Amino acid sequence: MDPTQAPISPANEGGAPIHVPVLVALPRHSGVEEVLDYLQPAELGPRRLAPGTLVRVPLGRRVVTGLVWQSTTDANRPPVSELRSLAEVLPQLPPLQDAWRSLLQFAAGYYQRAPGELAMAVLPAQLKELDGIQLQRRLKKLDRSLSASNPLPAHAVVQAESADAPPALPALSPQQAQVLEELNRSPSGTCLLHGVTGSGKTEVYLRAAEAALSRGQQVLVLVPEINLTPQLEARFAARFPRQRMVSLHSGLTPPQRLQNWLAAHTGRAELLLGTRMAVFASLPRLGLIVVDEEHDPSYKQQEGARYSARDLAVYRGRLESLPVLLGSATPSLETWLNATPAPAGLGRYQRLAMSQRIGDGALPRVRLLDLERYCAQHGRQALRDKPVAPALLQALRDRLERGEQSLLLLNRRGYAPVLHCPSCGWKSGCPHCSAWRVFHKLDRSLRCHHCGFSERVPLRCPQCGDPDIQPVGRGTERLEEQLSALLPEARIGRIDADTTRTRGSLETQLAAVHEGAVDVLIGTQMVAKGHDFRRMTLVAAVNADSALFSSDFRAPERLFALLMQAAGRAGRDARQAARSEMWIQTWHAAHPLYLALQAHDYEAFARSQLLERRAAGLPPYTCLALLRSEARDQAAALGFLQKAAMQARALLPQGIELQLYPPVPAALQRVANVERAQMLIESPHRAVLQRFLAVWLPRLQEGNAGETRVLRWAVDVDPQSI
Ligand SMILES: [Zn+2]
Ligand SMILES: [Zn+2]
Repeated sequence: MDPTQAPISPANEGGAPIHVPVLVALPRHSGVEEVLDYLQPAELGPRRLAPGTLVRVPLGRRVVTGLVWQSTTDANRPPVSELRSLAEVLPQLPPLQDAWRSLLQFAAGYYQRAPGELAMAVLPAQLKELDGIQLQRRLKKLDRSLSASNPLPAHAVVQAESADAPPALPALSPQQAQVLEELNRSPSGTCLLHGVTGSGKTEVYLRAAEAALSRGQQVLVLVPEINLTPQLEARFAARFPRQRMVSLHSGLTPPQRLQNWLAAHTGRAELLLGTRMAVFASLPRLGLIVVDEEHDPSYKQQEGARYSARDLAVYRGRLESLPVLLGSATPSLETWLNATPAPAGLGRYQRLAMSQRIGDGALPRVRLLDLERYCAQHGRQALRDKPVAPALLQALRDRLERGEQSLLLLNRRGYAPVLHCPSCGWKSGCPHCSAWRVFHKLDRSLRCHHCGFSERVPLRCPQCGDPDIQPVGRGTERLEEQLSALLPEARIGRIDADTTRTRGSLETQLAAVHEGAVDVLIGTQMVAKGHDFRRMTLVAAVNADSALFSSDFRAPERLFALLMQAAGRAGRDARQAARSEMWIQTWHAAHPLYLALQAHDYEAFARSQLLERRAAGLPPYTCLALLRSEARDQAAALGFLQKAAMQARALLPQGIELQLYPPVPAALQRVANVERAQMLIESPHRAVLQRFLAVWLPRLQEGNAGETRVLRWAVDVDPQSI
């Protein structure tokens, strides 16, 4: 519809035309208000459209989607003669509720984005493209597809309803029973479910969901990655065959995403499983939020509005007075501090612990394979060109003989992280990034994992012509090659980002492992998460040390979580649990992180990390924001931040507890020929930091309106890595 053509007479509310405030997407601080006034067409009658109603409005020469927003005061309203009418109303769709709008408003404020921009980013793209008639069709289709997708035929449903006996449920362990009892006693609030892998956290989620569903409520379950949704989906589907369940994640096509979103928004679906984007789903009868693996960094969005879905889930729970269940074997230190009673912690969350595996399965024994000591005994030459130490190789052979599976964890894909010329010192750097290009032997390429730049491997050194260029270090491809030579009788599989590029390939490869077609699986962290390998009795981390001395203060926390999670892949079958082992091949066998891991002592690890964080003034004891800038040259990127810092200092009141750190080049300084710089802002008080950002950032925008040397800048509140 062309809005400029259809002269619609404005409606009257007791004689006066009805103003409708509409939230539209405009870049923040663009100088134009995001909530614009429109006139309500007369044919909609005298009642003002409810806030949260989806509408289309003329904006300049375009027609854009907007949301009817809260009424503003009449004071600054433009005269009626200057207002344009709404172009279209989508009345088929129930308005987005108050709670949803409050969540959006909060998230926009907290993460320093414009509410309209955020709203349009989190609503399904197709919702903004379809007109009223098309939408009506989608809703009809939704009803058809939902009745068709009901796994039980009609007569079976009747039968199930008439039967007295409920479906048989697995017996609860004493710890599960106790946790559920405590959950029942607290109908709202945030709970940390701290359970070791295999302790049966999913069963607790299922029971908590069952309670909410029986009250006629909806349940939202968040998982860190798409490839983990199908597994959890299968368990929920088996448990609740008569409930409608949908998913939301980036792997859906736009029509699927709209369909699932509509199912949740209209209340047709009771269960929603999804990745971080699902935290913004509209769920009018929401009664429970579960965040599985709450510590996982992928809950933090890394572009646009850099929100943390975990943190927003907690906020949403408070807003709607409903329980939020955060589950993890290795909680984030933020959550741990919140769930630790005062005075040591903040005591904001309830902490529920499950320390035992189901069916008395033991936790795998953690063995540290001390490479330093091995070399002291046998000389460094003994390890030369060996991907694993002889003792580990023997352990793999033992598994092979018993028909059991092993997992070798190496968090580095490709053949070798760099190629090197011994005669002149040339290395395979990326011409566009401050990074090495990785040698992939299978397709003979040198590939940059940051910008994607790829070339065929040169036959001789591009600098001196020496044909003897050599791979340095080891990635999963090389580990696979070397291990195949050492264990020719073993069937070796490899799962990493390179082997799972095409849709469905990960599922196929995982299925092969489950069927027992693989003896030794080599994989990056993507196989360490969530997958339930029943026949696996050995997990070995081949090169975990590289993360021990990272400059990122969260690296030890991540490493500990990854290794614990990987260890959890072994011994899932209680009969094999007793001889399940996790091996860590290390040059630093006395490192406290490994010792805590060996004792399966998350609490000791968390305690020591929190002491360090407090001493260093780092989160969770302080709050951080990171201002990032990108430019064609580093001087411009840094210059922008220096100017921003000057502006900030002029704004800072005396005695405010807030610190600005000097601008520095980013850890990865150049990516795809763009220079990156960053500046850290720190305060012990969240509110102080928030108030300051809200004053400073609009000024920064105004002050740089005509700046062309800086390509992009953005603020990241609660950054995951600095
Ligand atoms: Zn050379
Ligand atoms: Zn590159």
